Amino acid sequence: MTTPPPPDQLVQQQKAFFATGQTRPLEFRLRMLHRLQKAIQKEEKAIIAALAADFGKPPFETFATEIAILLSEIKFLTKHLRKWVKPKKVKSSFLNFPSKDYIYPEPYGVALVIGAWNYPFQLTLSPMLGAIAAGCCAILKPSELTPATSQLTARLLQEHFPPEYITVVQGGPEVSQALLEQPLDKIFFTGSVPVGKIVAQAAAKQLIPVTLELGGKSPCIIDETADLAVVAKRIVWGKFINAGQTCVAPDYLLVQETVEAPLLEQLASTIKEFYGTNPAQSPDFARIINDRHFQRLKGLLEGVTVYVGGETDASSRYIAPTLLSNITWDQPIMQEEIFGPLLPVLTYRFLPEAIQQVNARPKPLALYFFTNDKNAKEMVLTQTSSGGACINDTVSHLANPYLPFGGVGTSGYGNYHGKASFEAFSHQKSVLQKPSKPDMPLRYPPYASKFNWMRRAFRWI
Ligand code: NAD
Repeated sequence: MTTPPPPDQLVQQQKAFFATGQTRPLEFRLRMLHRLQKAIQKEEKAIIAALAADFGKPPFETFATEIAILLSEIKFLTKHLRKWVKPKKVKSSFLNFPSKDYIYPEPYGVALVIGAWNYPFQLTLSPMLGAIAAGCCAILKPSELTPATSQLTARLLQEHFPPEYITVVQGGPEVSQALLEQPLDKIFFTGSVPVGKIVAQAAAKQLIPVTLELGGKSPCIIDETADLAVVAKRIVWGKFINAGQTCVAPDYLLVQETVEAPLLEQLASTIKEFYGTNPAQSPDFARIINDRHFQRLKGLLEGVTVYVGGETDASSRYIAPTLLSNITWDQPIMQEEIFGPLLPVLTYRFLPEAIQQVNARPKPLALYFFTNDKNAKEMVLTQTSSGGACINDTVSHLANPYLPFGGVGTSGYGNYHGKASFEAFSHQKSVLQKPSKPDMPLRYPPYASKFNWMRRAFRWI
């Protein structure tokens, strides 16, 4: 594999290629998306092996959350792209009569995509699909914490795309920072809130448009009307997939106190049903990404009440699916995003109290509410703010390309998936087109004789 040139040269090469206009035709974009689709299908085994090497990710989960999600996104983009790239005619303003008005989507140019490690293949390639669809060039900086997947991503893209169009640059924060200093046309960042702030500052220095896909503590509220057997399955799945290392995993449960005991029992029996009596032996449960995160998570277990789980093994970076009860807001585990297989359970008496507790904290990336009460549902949806939400499910909203995915407040800004991915890498250029005749004289000076006419005209609008 060839090493990419230094960041300044790389960006200049991509800018020069973008300037040739080759990335713009619809047929080129579709061809590149199909090429990637074939490459991903061909490399399925290698992708599964890389994720297993990086953190023991189960093949089923790799297929569902890294491969299938990309393939279905490609399918969606290729199906709709022809419609999106067309200039869109919009209504004209009476004041501009006679004019025709359009929105022309135009590609930003050279985009930098910085990815997180937790879904390392998908989180760099999915934004890149938006860049291709929009007609941009792209530089990808995958996470240094998943070396096997990052290496595979670099090889795969090098084999299928010229570097002046798409390139992977590997490395850690220093590599990101060198890239962020370049005169990029768009930055798309997925990662933590603290690094998101660094990226936003770097983007601000050059006024580069930026999308920030960040994280936070996503609450999961369960009221007494919910069907607890189903609730338990959907929570255990959403929390422990990827060993809890998911940006939209339920971070903590807020349970109506009347159903706390039966829900804890259901959750415990579902964990056993999914991962067996010893989850360390389960082929369906991943490992913690590295020693630093393992130690961080182990530290969060100190001084808390373990309802089920709690076992750890440093040599394999294993932490059991764990339920924590009697948790209070002042404990360390409630001060930071957990990002691991620990699930604290807190209680509330009345719904307004749960809403108040959510609203007292930074706006989360996702919010989940399990209920069979329609009024309660509306109350939660209209009185809280979150990037996205599911009623009676967890995590799944991100798999619908018709739903834009992104955060709000500290969980990020901008969004992607489906059409939103195309738009994330496109500028919406407003265009007004006029014929030479007639040339309405009303707006031109001298104004004296036209003022009253103008005021009357405004009354009709
Ligand atoms: P991170 O912020 O540590 O790293 C993300 C990327 O930024 C990596 O490529 C890393 O090399 C780079 N980076 C790290 N420090 C940097 C610096 N000082 N300057 C420039 N670049 C730097 O995040 P992570 O640990 O890889 O991922 C976990 C976080 O990402 C969690 O908070 C999670 O919620 C969030 N996340 C969000 C989404 C989403 O779609 N909203 C998806 C996955 C993960």
